[in-house]
Amino acid sequence: MAESPTPTDKLARRGLMFILSSPSGAGKTTISRMLLEAEDEIKLSVSVTTRPPRPGEIDGVHYYFVDDAEFDRMVEEDDFYEWAHVFGHRYGTPKGRIRNALKDGQDFLFDIDWQGTQQLYQKDQQDVVRVFILPPSIAELERRLRSRGTDAETVIEARMERARSEISHWDAYDYVVINEDAQACFAKVREILDAERMKRQRQTGLIPFVRELMS
Ligand code: 5GP
Repeated sequence: MAESPTPTDKLARRGLMFILSSPSGAGKTTISRMLLEAEDEIKLSVSVTTRPPRPGEIDGVHYYFVDDAEFDRMVEEDDFYEWAHVFGHRYGTPKGRIRNALKDGQDFLFDIDWQGTQQLYQKDQQDVVRVFILPPSIAELERRLRSRGTDAETVIEARMERARSEISHWDAYDYVVINEDAQACFAKVREILDAERMKRQRQTGLIPFVRELMS
């Protein structure tokens, strides 16, 4: 039997912009980490922020930490897909390598809030997949925020307030997953990613493949 010239799992496809949003403490950072460890074809889009690093955070890995003047310069030079004010600091998604890499089938993971999601979606509806993670309850969310032990009481209160407002934007997402258990939540998020990769319009290699089938 003749071998297929192109293994079907190697067909060319366009990358996607996979957005994970949730209120702080709902587990999106854990889910993001699990996804990046398990999936070679997805890279984290590292945001730029004016907030100071928390203990253990590394410049260029968790964020690019910049001062206000540098952030202003980037805004002026149109270096961002989107940017927003969060907790008195600014956060933005640098365009950098993303545009070209999508064409080569590279997926990007975005850990951004609803404002950023809206802006990204407006700029590129075709490539964006929006997933929102909810905590199982408000009490559990507060418990998770406190167990971090890195933020002052006033910051925790501000985060709880913001969490409620973040949750109110759940209906602006394509998928909503409740994070009761990290493993189960991760499995669901991975199924979403797998299915989205299979969408016909993303599988740019299908046209030559089908032509070959029909010839
Ligand atoms: P944290 O300071 O806890 O790392 O992040 C605070 C909030 O900023 C989170 O809700 C996070 O999703 C949001 N954020 C992080 N990076 C970006 C970004 O590039 N753009 C926008 N709009 N929000 C971001």
